[in-house]
Amino acid sequence: MPPVSSGSVAPPARSYWITTLGCPKNEVDSAKLAGRLTESGYAEASGPDEADLIVVNTCAFIQPAREESIDTILALSESRRPGARLAVTGCLAERSGAELAEAMPEIDVVAGFGMDVTSDSSTPVAFRPRESVPAFDLLELPRPPAQAPWAYVKVAEGCDRRCGFCAIPSFRGRQRSRQLASILAEVDALDASEIVLVAQDLASYGRDRSSESRTQTDSILELVSEVAQRVRWVRLLYLYPSSLNDRLIDTILSTEVPYFDLSLQHVSAPLVRRMRRWGNRERFLERIRRIRQLEPDAVLRSSFILGYPGETEEDQDELLGFLEEAQLDWAGLFTFSPEAGTFAVGLDPSLSVPPGLALERLAECSELQDAITTRRRANIVGTEMTVLVESSESGRSYREAPEIDGVVRLRGLPAELVHERGAFVRARCIGSEGPDLIAEVVAE
Ligand code: SF4
Repeated sequence: MPPVSSGSVAPPARSYWITTLGCPKNEVDSAKLAGRLTESGYAEASGPDEADLIVVNTCAFIQPAREESIDTILALSESRRPGARLAVTGCLAERSGAELAEAMPEIDVVAGFGMDVTSDSSTPVAFRPRESVPAFDLLELPRPPAQAPWAYVKVAEGCDRRCGFCAIPSFRGRQRSRQLASILAEVDALDASEIVLVAQDLASYGRDRSSESRTQTDSILELVSEVAQRVRWVRLLYLYPSSLNDRLIDTILSTEVPYFDLSLQHVSAPLVRRMRRWGNRERFLERIRRIRQLEPDAVLRSSFILGYPGETEEDQDELLGFLEEAQLDWAGLFTFSPEAGTFAVGLDPSLSVPPGLALERLAECSELQDAITTRRRANIVGTEMTVLVESSESGRSYREAPEIDGVVRLRGLPAELVHERGAFVRARCIGSEGPDLIAEVVAE
């Protein structure tokens, strides 16, 4: 198959399949890759076993994610049709490209962010270690219109923080924010009812572009306000807690989606410091109280790491106490995973928390948080809400982020609305089941 570059006349009947692993940011990259492949003359295949080119967009965040990526590569390689090419991109390709290329002959092309996955090389592309940031990002590439009534929009790549457990800055590079105009053009083209803004450190959007006269949050405030004028719902994922000042809270509350996704990771001050992060239990609770004082129905999500080096029983008790007091609507709980090249792996080995103990602590927190989530969901029963219809049976209110939180199971949805992409309905909540709500449509 000859190499195809953007702008050339592509021969027909070449097809691609993309399997995406990992976080929402990867989904945006895949959408942009799909746009690029379409421009290059490829059509989407109906399944991986039908495709001429299979792309696996990998995740390398922690060890289980790497294992899943490798298992997926092997499975897709097994099932591909004769002559089909297999390309691997995403974080695992970026981080361990050379090792992958050497260890997995199944792979035809290992491509970092934005590299050409259609390359005709018959041998794997060996990777050079990246000294600076990627030379070319997928961020500005076109993407196909959204199929779902909502879409992720990635507004920046990379991260300027150095959290002790996180390898992302080492392979995604420093933060590069997109121009506001480019983001808004993408939002307009997507024609979605809900836009979910994502970045590694979303509240820092634009800081790398800002003049000194602008404060830390000016750019994100402007971005949220502009997107909210174009789309009914705008949701923000991953806010670093120190960035959540009153102005940002006010701006989020001025939209129709009072949803706050705070990445806290832990609350015990000594542990948070060892994570090289900002904040402590009292500061976090103060922000949460402030949000609820302004909007009692605001929804709060966070994520926490259990078993970070040096974590003690007192730290665990502090986290349990916080969860009880904060009454978060949603929380993601993870055990610590030592990642090469991070601050945490250089810590004294005597600080390590045995994996079994980390799992026990996670189970303890999960039990508490699941009960809180279930209770908070049950408290919604009897109220009315606006729901974005996603299928004949379900949708979401502002309280649920797509693919992350629960859903609203709809009853009595008029047939004509099922096929109207991006329809909103009013519905009365008549029950709850764990994280999900059950609601009856009362009006369009
Ligand atoms: S804010 Fe911290 S955890 Fe998030 S990407 Fe940046 S370094 Fe990693």
